[in-house]
Parts: sequence; structure tokens; C-alpha cells
Amino acid sequence: MAGIYIHIPYCKQACHYCNFHFSTDKGSINEFVEALLTEISLKAGAWQDEVFETIYFGGGTPSILSGNQIRSIIQALYNQYNISSNIEQTVECNPDDLSIALLKELKLCGFNRLSIGIQSFFDKHLQMMNRSHNQLQARNAIADASYAGFSNITIDLIYGLPDLSVDEWNKNLSIVQELQVPHLSCYSLTIEERTALAHFVKQNKMKPAEDDLTIKQYHSLLQWSKQNRINQYEISNFAKAGFESKHNSNYWNNQPYLGLGPSAHSYFQNTRTQNKPHNIQYIRRLLSGQLPEMTTELLSVKDTFNELLLTRLRTVNGLNRNQLLTFPKSYVDHVDALFPDFNKRGLIEYNQSNYVLTTEGQMLSDYIISSLFVTD
Ligand code: SF4
Repeated sequence: MAGIYIHIPYCKQACHYCNFHFSTDKGSINEFVEALLTEISLKAGAWQDEVFETIYFGGGTPSILSGNQIRSIIQALYNQYNISSNIEQTVECNPDDLSIALLKELKLCGFNRLSIGIQSFFDKHLQMMNRSHNQLQARNAIADASYAGFSNITIDLIYGLPDLSVDEWNKNLSIVQELQVPHLSCYSLTIEERTALAHFVKQNKMKPAEDDLTIKQYHSLLQWSKQNRINQYEISNFAKAGFESKHNSNYWNNQPYLGLGPSAHSYFQNTRTQNKPHNIQYIRRLLSGQLPEMTTELLSVKDTFNELLLTRLRTVNGLNRNQLLTFPKSYVDHVDALFPDFNKRGLIEYNQSNYVLTTEGQMLSDYIISSLFVTD
């Protein structure tokens, strides 16, 4: 089950926490779309044997494009690739871009899933993050998307924000329920290097959230998801039955994917490639008929093993032991040696042949998974 990821590397303004690849200089958007159409054509031959079950427009901010630009990209994909009739077609949007006209255009282009970057329903937190929308636009975007006929909607929310109380976090969750959103991705704020937030913290202009408050917010989230039957299926992802993201599940299930646009990754037959994250170089190369500059990494058995740990342990179904047993014995011995201690500390359980992180373990997932990695 292959997927296509398209990276649209432009944003209206830079959110203070963001370290994705994007530019706020929109002067090259038209040339970018032309370059992207060329990349779509140049790579089509190599992917002819795949049937694509998912298309995902991410970024950056895909909804910054005009309806015509989005339509031309979609048409190029449908004309040159084998797209399943059962496609899951997702586009990430910012609430302030979602006019009824754009929503209708997205529908006509075959999008059947909208991912709306809400992050918070409180203006003070949206301003602190330098988001380009306010809480009213956030609510209206969800209502308008439903009105335009989108039933498969996912929104992003961030917890662990400085100055976010548990009550405010619970209020965010209750609005999700009130608006009947069927899928939710929730991320704990990470203060990434070279972001405005990191700078504010270094300058003592902002204090990161206390760990115990972030942990309480995570517990609230899990409790809320159980009460409302929006089931957790991965550490950061929650869905009503039948609304789980196929595109993300492909990544976790080691399926091939084609990434197009600056910084996008592709994965095919144990090889991962990444387009250079540079808009102008990307445009120049493609408009002169050359593929964009890429880095290529052939994944070793060890890389594949570590990747399996990383992706499967983040899911609620966990990591199946039989899958582990297909790897060298020394790798399995490494996991077997560390498991009893994590298990004794209540961080991992072994259920029906699967290793599964407990709630406490989910909160320490980076530490646990990296400890289990094989390093030599
Ligand atoms: S809109 Fe998204 S990609 Fe753009 S700066 Fe904000 S978080 Fe980053």
C-alpha cells in the first residue's frame, strides 16, 4: 500500500515552535508549482509498478496555494501515477485559509480528509505560538469544513504549552467533542533548537511548562479519549473507529512512499532518499529539467531493526515478537536483556506476543526506544 507525500514549503508567518522546512517569502510560489509538476513527471516512470492508496499534502501550509494550483498538482498525479479508487486524500490547512470557495475546490479535487492546524482554542496561546489564526477562525474552519461535506476531519492540538492550565487543556478537548471532530493529533510542545521559542527561553523571556503539568495534561487526554471513544492508536493519534489515518499507518507499517517537494523523504526497497530542503535550488534544478538534489541512505539490517522499534512501539498494538525474531539473534538478545527492567518499572508490558508501552512508558517513549536501539 504505497503513499505519496507532497511538501508545500511556504507559510504566511513562522510559528514560534516550528522547525519544519518552510519559507515565509512567497515570491517563488508559482515557479515552485511548475517545478513540482516537473518532479511529478520525472519520477513517474520509476513508480509505475506501485498502486497508491494515499496522497498527503503537507508542509509548510498547502492551503496557501490557490485552488487552481492544487488542481493542477492533483491532475498531474492522477494522469501519471496509478491511483487507487479507494484513495485516502488528505490536505493540511490552516484555519484562516479555509474559505467555503477553497473547501469546495478541495472537494472537487478529490480530497476526502482535511487536517486542520488548530493547536489551541485560546487566543492567548495562539498568539504566544505566533499562529496566523484566532480561536473563532479555528471553530469556523471546522464548522465550514463539515458544511462543505467533509466528514473525515482531523485537527492538531498542542499541550505542554507555557501558561496552559489543565482546565484550559480540558476545555480544548471539550470543544473537540462539541464540534464532533473524529480524529485528533496531540503533540507535547517540544522546544526545538533554532526556533523563536528556544531563543525566548534562553533569554528568560519565557518559561517552559512544568513537567508535572504536562504529564497531567497527557493523562487528561487519555481519560478524555476513553470517555468519548476517540481511541488512541498511536502515542499522538486518536480516532473514532474507522477514522484512523491510512497515510500515517503506512509509515508505521514500513510501506513504500514517494515524497515530492523540498525536504520530502521517499522510501522504497530499503532505501530512503530526501530532497534537499532548499526552495530556490529545488526550483532551479527542476526548471532546468534535472531532478532535485537528494541524499540517499541505504538502510542496513540494524537501521531497519531500529526503525521497527521506533514505529511499532509508538502504536498501541505494539511490537510483535515474531517480527523481532526475523532479525539477528544478537539484536533480539539486546531487547531481551533490557525488557525485564523496563517491565519491572511499569514502562513496557508483554501482551499476547506484543511488547506494548504502558501509559507511563508512552510518556518516556523517546528514552525507552532509544535505549532499545542496537548501536553497534
Ligand atoms: S504553519 Fe505549520 S509549517 Fe508553517 S510555521 Fe506554522 S507550524 Fe510550521
